[in-house]
Amino acid sequence: MRVSNIRSGRIFRLALCFLVILPLLYLLANWSDNHKRVQRAYHARFGGRKQSHQRLESRPREAPKLVEGLGNFEPRNLRPRHGAGENGDAHILWPNKTNVADAAEMEYGMNIACSDEISMHRSVRDTRLEECKHWNYPYDLPTTSVIIVFHNEGFSVLMRTVHSVIDRSPKHVLHEIILVDDYSDKENLRTKLDHYVQQFQGLVKIIRNKEREGLIRTRSRGAMEATGEVIVFLDAHCEVNLNWLPPLLAPIYRDRTVMTVPIIDGIDHKTFEYTPVYEGDKHFRGIFEWGMLYKENDVPRREQQRRAHNSEPYRSPTHAGGLFAINRDYFLELGAYDPGLLVWGGENFELSFKIWQCGGSIEWVPCSRVGHVYRGFMPYNFGKLAEKKKGPLITINYKRVIETWFDAPHKEFFYTREPLARYLDMGDISEQLALKKRLNCKSFQWFMDNVAYDVLDKFPALPANLHWGELRSVASDGCLDSMSNEPPALMGFTYCQGTGNQLMRLNAEGQLGVDERCVEADRQGIKLAVCRLGTVTGPWSYDEHSKHLLHHRHRKCMALHPETLQLSLARCDANNAYQQWLFKKIRPDW
Ligand code: UDP
Ligand code: MN
Repeated sequence: MRVSNIRSGRIFRLALCFLVILPLLYLLANWSDNHKRVQRAYHARFGGRKQSHQRLESRPREAPKLVEGLGNFEPRNLRPRHGAGENGDAHILWPNKTNVADAAEMEYGMNIACSDEISMHRSVRDTRLEECKHWNYPYDLPTTSVIIVFHNEGFSVLMRTVHSVIDRSPKHVLHEIILVDDYSDKENLRTKLDHYVQQFQGLVKIIRNKEREGLIRTRSRGAMEATGEVIVFLDAHCEVNLNWLPPLLAPIYRDRTVMTVPIIDGIDHKTFEYTPVYEGDKHFRGIFEWGMLYKENDVPRREQQRRAHNSEPYRSPTHAGGLFAINRDYFLELGAYDPGLLVWGGENFELSFKIWQCGGSIEWVPCSRVGHVYRGFMPYNFGKLAEKKKGPLITINYKRVIETWFDAPHKEFFYTREPLARYLDMGDISEQLALKKRLNCKSFQWFMDNVAYDVLDKFPALPANLHWGELRSVASDGCLDSMSNEPPALMGFTYCQGTGNQLMRLNAEGQLGVDERCVEADRQGIKLAVCRLGTVTGPWSYDEHSKHLLHHRHRKCMALHPETLQLSLARCDANNAYQQWLFKKIRPDW
């Protein structure tokens, strides 16, 4: 008995210990877990910027997992919706609304009257790969601020962007939506907007610029004001697709130096039909040509093979600009956007080069799809900002980016393609160069060799220009002009205006170029053509003495018809002034 008594006493004490200690341990573990969570929320909200790095380091870096059933963030029990534009279908206005629709198109570059008839909560078609529905993402994803900058956008389009984000993002992840008004002057974007967002009870915040800043600086301002751990930029005319956010956040959760980009679907600017721009299971990534036009290319095999599943993110040298996610602190550590970039253009390259060269990376995420309205035209002007700087503002932006991030040989490609850029005043870039040094960033050659290794295949190195300028006829007062056409098209002949579409370049290999296009000739005439990869069109040569432009393959000269002013090839005739041309340097007086 005693023994047993003693034993049972021990057992009792042991049991008591367990009963007391285990819950205590449990409480303690829970408390520290909770404590961490509260701390995280606190830091996300009120700064504590420095800690965020360590916080990320100490997290278990769970990777997304492919599962049998539906992924953990997949929407369940979606009810079909019926009505105008539902399922992302086109919505056609009644003919009696044609005038209103036309007016809206003129004012906004899109049919706001059509948008006004579509529900704020409309459904869109699921454009993702089937596999996307079967990924599990970490639950504990970083808190997110969605930043939407806008200048004079249509009210219903802007608010549908907001509603789609709220309707299709996990509540515990969506920290806030910040609307940054870039000095809009439409009345409904003030009082009506302020009133409308009250329903979101603080989730949607509005900040307003005191003067027009342009989209680049406005985005940087949004980033500074945001208090989420990750910021996601969207244009003010988007609709996010199903389960768009977790796949964008997952790579950043594992590595704060990854910037992620959703795959962009198209929303028609007339009917608001939601359709994929990229169909099937083929992927594309962002690159550039030497005049810094944004281009896309098939994902090279080398990159495809780095991944086990076709729905996984892949690396991309650049991105289109408007839509992406990035750790907020990281974005600010990189200096946000170069504040010397004005209004629009080039900022997507600046951020891309900066990220890659300074140790980060860019991934495009097939399972995150966002619809974007591509407008018919740009409905706004650049306001006062454009007056401050003379010369084409976008090319000035490019020049800042090139002078900061390119190396000498690649800079030459840019100046060969854009000869006028040499004369443009890009302002002071010493801060950008200092940042590059401070962050110990790699060279542009490194970027070309390791990241953008497919660019030179698509856009070969440019031979130097032998001649460039307007191509003036000696016989008649006028110049060759691409008329801003796209190939196939005939080259035109118009008054000399010194504009980009009259700026012809004849390079050392005999290619006659205008913008990113080349000039070819056949029996029908002188034509605008796609520059053939690696091969030379023409080849043309220019003789300063005879002033002839000779097409070597056809062994004929470029000629202007005296009456019709049509261009063609003709048998070379030294006495015919209609075959004589002068390259006249356009000297910008800005
Ligand atoms: N935007 C802005 N300030 C400007 C110009 C544009 O805030 O000076 C906003 C615009 O409302 C949109 C975003 O920036 O939400 C991107 O501009 P846009 O859609 O015109 O660019 P695109 O999609 O044509 O590249
Ligand atoms: Mn846009």
